[in-house]
Amino acid sequence: MSCSCTSKLKNGKDVVDHVKSKGKENFAPTVAHEISCECGETFILKTIVMNCPNCEMTYAVTPCGSADKNNIKQAGLKYA
Ligand SMILES: [Zn+2]
Repeated sequence: MSCSCTSKLKNGKDVVDHVKSKGKENFAPTVAHEISCECGETFILKTIVMNCPNCEMTYAVTPCGSADKNNIKQAGLKYA
């Protein structure tokens, strides 16, 4: 299931801005996905906006899209 808010958001920065505008950046995702970062680090996405613990690349997903790993987007280094 996807919803309209996911398709409207074109990139990770849009997702971060959207989630932050709703004050939900510390919400837990529906599924705690394992992220394999470009830097080689693997970590668990504990909140829907989270930085890689190694390189600080920001990853973001909407609350309603958070069950699907494909909805997780990179927003750029230290964007959150
Ligand atoms: Zn990283």
